[in-house]
Amino acid sequence: MNSKEIRKAFLDYFEKNDHKIMKSFPLIPSDPQLLFTVAGMVPFKPIFWGKVEPTYTKIATCQKCLRTNDIENVGRTARHQTFFEMLGNFSFGDYFKEGAIKFAWEFLTEVLKLPKEKLWVSVYLDDDDAYNIWKNVIGFPEEKIIRMGKEDNWWGPVGPSGPCGPCSEIYYDTGRTDLCSNPEKCTPEDDCGRYVEIWNLVFTEYYQDENGNLSPLPRKNIDTGAGLERITAAVQGVYDNFETDLFTPIINKIENIFNIKFRENEKTDVSIKVIADHSRAVSFLVSEGILPSNEGRGYVLRRILRRALRHGALLGKKEPFLNEVIEVVLNSYGDIYPEIIEKSSFIKNIVEAEEKRFLETLDKGTEKLINYINNSKEKKIDGRFAFELYDTYGFPLDITKEIAEEHGFKVDENDFNKQMELQRKRAREAAGEKEYTKMNPAFKFIGENLKSTKFTGYEKIEDESIIL
Ligand code: ATP
Ligand code: MG
Ligand code: MG
Ligand code: MG
Repeated sequence: MNSKEIRKAFLDYFEKNDHKIMKSFPLIPSDPQLLFTVAGMVPFKPIFWGKVEPTYTKIATCQKCLRTNDIENVGRTARHQTFFEMLGNFSFGDYFKEGAIKFAWEFLTEVLKLPKEKLWVSVYLDDDDAYNIWKNVIGFPEEKIIRMGKEDNWWGPVGPSGPCGPCSEIYYDTGRTDLCSNPEKCTPEDDCGRYVEIWNLVFTEYYQDENGNLSPLPRKNIDTGAGLERITAAVQGVYDNFETDLFTPIINKIENIFNIKFRENEKTDVSIKVIADHSRAVSFLVSEGILPSNEGRGYVLRRILRRALRHGALLGKKEPFLNEVIEVVLNSYGDIYPEIIEKSSFIKNIVEAEEKRFLETLDKGTEKLINYINNSKEKKIDGRFAFELYDTYGFPLDITKEIAEEHGFKVDENDFNKQMELQRKRAREAAGEKEYTKMNPAFKFIGENLKSTKFTGYEKIEDESIIL
């Protein structure tokens, strides 16, 4: 099956099982606490919380997602992208654990025909219900049901209180015993890379109050998420998401532009994967109107875009190239997400402008950093210097960190953040003073007396445990 068939098979399967199929919601959520949609459940958060009554009690989607906390994983693990698609089915007070487990099992083994013996599952420590459903209803071998702790198998609450619950995850054995320290005894808990988590089934059944006390929720919900890229890798029998047909045309284009081959050299593979991944993220972010900037979402876009350019430079390209790759992304996804085709010339203009801007300073900044590294006795990059690279050469911290790490150096991130805060403060003060002198006294009063709201998106999105 190709990835298009898998995406469709998922939605068709759940439609056949009485779910309302909805189109992907935007990557930019209406939720002010989040920068991006990081999981399929995000658009339904008010329903999970019981704040809104659902029109449909069973829904399935293929949701565009973006996770910034996985940026550094891209190219280094086989299973992480920044932009990815999450297949999900949701029940609001309708079916619960048994229904969710049966659906996932039937879809994986009967629709996708994944071999049963390659699947493993985990349940939360004391979740005997889920354990018994796997064992008795599904007939899953007991020795392949692993009880895992809070870190992997408990979701929520978002913030100090809210709905939460245990989850059960499904793993696929890729057969990569070369990665295990003890292949005979290796289980998904070892996290060596042999087993890939493909689907998370969350049983949202509790409410946690501010003191950490749990009470049962009046409505028990199901929230599941399966990464399309990972499921496709399993179905297509490849180890790495980047080897699936979702990436083939994109990677072919990159091979072409740089005149290199994928899977011939570990180091260039990382750059190829970063460029492939980041081209998708950039295309989808700009299609939703995000522009490169130094704040919030725009800054995430800038970081991703510039990181792709730096990897292009590593592969020897000093001229703009990203639009050629993006063209392929637009063509591959246009039939599923028409918004990227509608906005294609806008996307290309924005990308081109940012490429030109950054390529002017990338070389000089890199040279300066390498000089610093060569002349430093300690294996540490000063926060002030990292900030100078940011301020003068437009180097997002990720790039400085990445180059530093390539030379065995660490960046003093605390100090970098301090410098950043100081600069923001100076800018605020300068702007404030200037504006106030010219301002209508009423605005001045409002400015001085209204408390600012605290933006919590950065912490929230970085802590993925609160999401799924
Ligand atoms: P991992 O432990 O591998 O980082 P996760 O536990 O963070 O995954 P969940 O939050 O449970 O992932 O998300 C549900 C599903 O979404 C995962 O089981 C996986 O299939 C997919 N997924 C999560 N993060 C990514 C990513 N960065 N790239 C591709 N797919 C992902
Ligand atoms: Mg996990
Ligand atoms: Mg998970
Ligand atoms: Mg993760």
